[in-house]
Amino acid sequence: MALVMEKYKMPEQDPKVRIHNFDEVALGYTKELAKLEANRCLHCKVAHCRKGCPVDIDIPAFIDKIKQGDFIGAEAKIKESSSLPAICGRVCPQENQCEKYCIRGIKGEPVAIGRLERFVADYCMENTSEVKKADEKFLSTENKLKVAIIGSGPSGLACAGDLAKLGYDVTIFEALHTAGGVLSYGIPEFRLPKEKIVKAEIDNLRKMGVKIEVNSVIGKLFTIDDLLDEYDFKAVFVATGAGLPHFMNIAGENLNGVYSSNEFLTRCNLMKAYRFPEYATPIKVGETVAVVGGGNVAMDSARTALRLGAKHVYIIYRRSEAELPARQEEVEHAKEEGIDFRLLNNPVEILGDDKGCVVGIRCIRMELGESDSTGRRRPVAILNSEFDLPVDTVVIAIGQGPNPLVQSTTPDMQTNKKGNIIADEETCKTSKEGVFAGGDIVTGAATVILAMGAGKKAAKAIDEYLKDKYKK
Ligand code: FAD
Ligand code: SF4
Repeated sequence: MALVMEKYKMPEQDPKVRIHNFDEVALGYTKELAKLEANRCLHCKVAHCRKGCPVDIDIPAFIDKIKQGDFIGAEAKIKESSSLPAICGRVCPQENQCEKYCIRGIKGEPVAIGRLERFVADYCMENTSEVKKADEKFLSTENKLKVAIIGSGPSGLACAGDLAKLGYDVTIFEALHTAGGVLSYGIPEFRLPKEKIVKAEIDNLRKMGVKIEVNSVIGKLFTIDDLLDEYDFKAVFVATGAGLPHFMNIAGENLNGVYSSNEFLTRCNLMKAYRFPEYATPIKVGETVAVVGGGNVAMDSARTALRLGAKHVYIIYRRSEAELPARQEEVEHAKEEGIDFRLLNNPVEILGDDKGCVVGIRCIRMELGESDSTGRRRPVAILNSEFDLPVDTVVIAIGQGPNPLVQSTTPDMQTNKKGNIIADEETCKTSKEGVFAGGDIVTGAATVILAMGAGKKAAKAIDEYLKDKYKK
């Protein structure tokens, strides 16, 4: 039988339709498409795909279950290593991970591992009674020691899930009014549906006995020492993420109409500005929007602005297309939707009118010079090449730093120069006894799968620490 060289396409909303709604862009494989795609897997003796997976999912084994039509079994296989397959199947940069190493990618396209992961997770969510049985086998009620988790992003959720399975009494403290971290406030509905996927994963944790205290800012409400000394928590996992926006420090950043991507996306996703006036969250977009940056956050901001009614949206990025840090699929989707990429351009000033509102952005053209310490070619400004673009709104999406509050109220927990918590890569142990940390607060802004992987490592290390300390 001839080998099928390309991935089976996943149905998607038409770009002309989807730019007017916030519904999910990718629609997912049907059972038939999933089986056809699974049949492209060669079940290699040495499965190179696995070395690209940060949490070492047994990829050939789960794909084999799909071939046999055992979708529940496929999800159970994935869940041995990953807690959030419906989320990771949607947002993981598979092209740089498992799929990058898939043998089928040498001649033709790799197996669509991410799409298959998403398919089995969605199938199982829709057939919940069967899944419950699969999840229940993990649950234990042997252990009742209390563990606190600070932050409910993928790292905190994964840690909570694994500790709950081991029988610990787990409480997550979340500063915002909704759990999920970036999954809820950052990544837009059209990439990651909140009700159907994120909330369902969080509800599942609640069913497993995890308590989630929202509107609870640790560092203000309680300190880590309060949790350990006064509230009888025996261990704490800090998973507070990288939510502090970076700015460019150029003239005009304080004008009306300039947003950090955090504020822009939070207003839209968490505060539901896209459903105004049903939700009373205002958001100003105007006719023309410039988004500065080239990562996933920039793509999400640009595509959100388009859906909020902007007529023209620019991405302004100082390097070239090859260096864009965003996922390839997101760049392709943005292009299909008509986002105008202004590459090798860098803003030098945001221009305002006499009322203090944005009217334009001044940029300078760039070229690529020598490679820097990260191996990427450094962007260098071309003298006297400034030009102005008339815009009403500017969204700055050039990166985020660590949320600082927990560190500043825990002086005996070591941090590095950037303010990230220093923790052991394998055990997530910090310099403070009984306190563990992982995800973006340790690594700096990274990926969902790495944050989730750290949460799983921390759960294992916390279990070992508590067993040892309390001789269970
Ligand atoms: P977070 O998800 O940031 O969660 C931290 C949580 O801690 C937050 O809910 C915060 O409110 C809470 N918190 C902070 N301080 C306190 C406190 N003092 N007390 C209580 N709670 C506190 N990654 C991908 O893999 N693929 C993508 O496509 C992708 N797209 C992205 C798009 C956007 C817009 C953004 C912003 C990020 C994206 N990422 C993507 C990165 C990914 O989402 C993060 O790496 C991941 O969410 C980090 O998880 P975390 O659990 O460490 O932190
Ligand atoms: Fe299947 Fe590709 Fe992994 Fe081989 S490398 S087992 S073909 S997914």
